[in-house]
Amino acid sequence: MVFLKQLCISSGSVLRRYIQTSSRRQVELTSIRYPGVKRGNYGVVVDNDIATFERLIPGRVLTDSLEGYNTDWLKTCRGASQVVLRPKSTEEVSAILKYCNEKKLAVVPQGGNTGLVGGSVAVFDEIVISTQLMNNIISLDEISGTLVCQAGCVLASIEDYLSEYKLTIPVDLGAKGSCHIGGNVATNAGGVRLLRYGSLHGSVLGLEAVLASGEVVDCLSTLRKDNTGYDLKQLFIGSEGTLGLITAVSLNCPQKPQAVSVAFLGCESFQRVLDIFKESRHKLGEVMSAFEFMDSHSMVVAKENLKLKSPIGDFPFYVLIETSGSNGSHDEEKLSQFLEHVTSSEIVQDGTVATEPTKIQYIWSIRERLAEGLLHDGYCYKYDVSLPLSSFYGLVEAMRERMGNMVTRVIGYGHVGDGNLHLNLTSPEYSSEVMKKIEPFIYDWVADQKGSISAEHGLGFKKKDFIYHSKSKSAVRLMKDIKRTFDPNMILNPYKVLPDL
Ligand SMILES: Cc1cc2nc3c(=O)[nH]c(=O)nc-3n(C[C@H](O)[C@H](O)[C@H](O)COP(=O)(O)OP(=O)(O)OC[C@H]3O[C@@H](n4cnc5c(N)ncnc54)[C@H](O)[C@@H]3O)c2cc1C
Repeated sequence: MVFLKQLCISSGSVLRRYIQTSSRRQVELTSIRYPGVKRGNYGVVVDNDIATFERLIPGRVLTDSLEGYNTDWLKTCRGASQVVLRPKSTEEVSAILKYCNEKKLAVVPQGGNTGLVGGSVAVFDEIVISTQLMNNIISLDEISGTLVCQAGCVLASIEDYLSEYKLTIPVDLGAKGSCHIGGNVATNAGGVRLLRYGSLHGSVLGLEAVLASGEVVDCLSTLRKDNTGYDLKQLFIGSEGTLGLITAVSLNCPQKPQAVSVAFLGCESFQRVLDIFKESRHKLGEVMSAFEFMDSHSMVVAKENLKLKSPIGDFPFYVLIETSGSNGSHDEEKLSQFLEHVTSSEIVQDGTVATEPTKIQYIWSIRERLAEGLLHDGYCYKYDVSLPLSSFYGLVEAMRERMGNMVTRVIGYGHVGDGNLHLNLTSPEYSSEVMKKIEPFIYDWVADQKGSISAEHGLGFKKKDFIYHSKSKSAVRLMKDIKRTFDPNMILNPYKVLPDL
């Protein structure tokens, strides 16, 4: 067992890049852009409150230069929070929440602030409670692969730490250099490894959370099997900071794959993408760890906005397949048989395979940096939906036709292997006319196909009013009852996830 190691690897270059990319323009205050949202009947922070916070967490109360904490990663939401609190321990979180609950001061939990639905920043003047300083590894059981850590550990830092023990983390996403594991759990982040390791509902063995009242809920089990009563941790996974502040997490970490290969393929139509997926499931089976796609419009973003080069020629669609396993020659053999089959049957037009880490990383960056590349256009209208594969790309085509030249571009990419499409539209700046043309049309389209309006990003602030497109009235009523039980004063992340509270 390894105890209490502080993770100080900040993966700063990734974070800095995001900040530089998106710090060019001033963002309109959320309360102005969305005039329909009214401030709740919450207390206003006064000097006496600041003095109390200073007593609870000396030297870790910020009241100046809060722009970074008030603005979301996409630069689409901006709050007016006057204070940021940076606790280091569960006890400190508990004391802060107890005080805020008594004074009816609204709070917003914040991890790496990479969320894409406006959930991680204030809507009005909610107090930001940041997990930045809660970055200790608590224990690692090398035999079972069970890691227990504080919620503020940066995902990439955990990955680096685990690799020393030949282990890996079951969740991986483009924001890994900045996002926190607590944020990942709070959003039930999906990412590129979901195909292999399943969702966090399976990988999280336990967690600890603090309720609005300050009460600590200890569900920090490290057991694989535990059928004693309701599995409460599941309620916190994906609750987006509305039920409690997650302070620690216990994770089941798989063995690090010893051999990884990436194939990048070009094909003529989306039907071909599906053909490749079908064949890869059949021929690669258990060694396939990711299956991603992007369209030619995405490649233009990679080339023009990110100055990345395609490793193959120009095609209407591209597929990225990753294989990983414990026996390199076995996996490579399977991959080459698969590639031979898809090229000889003309499903694939061209392709390249990378086995060297730098080349693998380069190919992955074409796919993973698209979100960053889109910000160069100005404003990004971002949608993350689940759809049946039969109608998957139809939504991109429908939106392209509907929007015409009202937008700069409409691009589709994402986790085809999980039925998860990332649909993005851009324009030089935010336009309410464009927004009205997109919503609710897009959500009606998804609902007609029995899809989900949020596959992995959550509802946050921006999508909460559309929850009924994916959930029944009775389900939402139960969710509201749960919210009232966990947070009777509604101080935790108000205006998010559930409508009309
Ligand atoms: C380039 C890029 C790529 C991305 N790729 C993916 C992807 O592939 N898959 C995916 O699912 N997401 C993706 N995202 C979205 C985002 O990274 C994830 O939602 C991530 O899990 C958020 O983690 P965070 O620490 O940044 O949380 P934040 O953005 O800080 O917060 C997100 C939400 O969780 C709440 N929260 C944060 N920490 C806690 C806590 N400790 N306790 C309770 N609530 C908390 C916040 O209040 C907020 O509602 C991507 C984002 C970017 C910028």
